[in-house]
Amino acid sequence: MQKVKLPVKVDPVRSALKLLDYVGIVEKSQMPRLEESTAGLLGDVDVSLHFGKDVQKLTVMKGTAHAEVNLVCQRCGESFTHRCEAEFVYTPMFERTDEEELPEAYEPIELDENGEIDLHQILEDELILALPLVPMHPMDECPRGKMEMSFGHIEPADERPNPFAVLEELKRK
Ligand SMILES: [Zn+2]
Repeated sequence: MQKVKLPVKVDPVRSALKLLDYVGIVEKSQMPRLEESTAGLLGDVDVSLHFGKDVQKLTVMKGTAHAEVNLVCQRCGESFTHRCEAEFVYTPMFERTDEEELPEAYEPIELDENGEIDLHQILEDELILALPLVPMHPMDECPRGKMEMSFGHIEPADERPNPFAVLEELKRK
């Protein structure tokens, strides 16, 4: 089955009145910044969006986005596949909107001159923000993590591996 491509722009207010749901994809080629932020975007981005009104009658766009990306493990230097997942709630800003009064989980968003928002841009931002700060294999899948475990070395939880350590090691080889 061919997947539906998400529109680039939507009018969140009108979509909310119609209680629209979008389930579809954004093509990989539309996400150049996500591609650059990783060691490769492996396919199209899966998106599910729901437009509606909350109990306070605020217009909301709730959604999730998933992308498979390659990341380089900062412990062992090898790349691995990571499923990047973002979850978000947006509410459009109007002149009467008081940002202070918005529920904490809501992200305010400006509408353009046509009352629309740029979905591709928003989804790409969300996915980039959802990337791990220091990408690493899970300990038991990391060749280096296994080695460390078998030597009985336990890393303190807050000790971040130095990304340059990997470079140092490459230089020595
Ligand atoms: Zn690793």
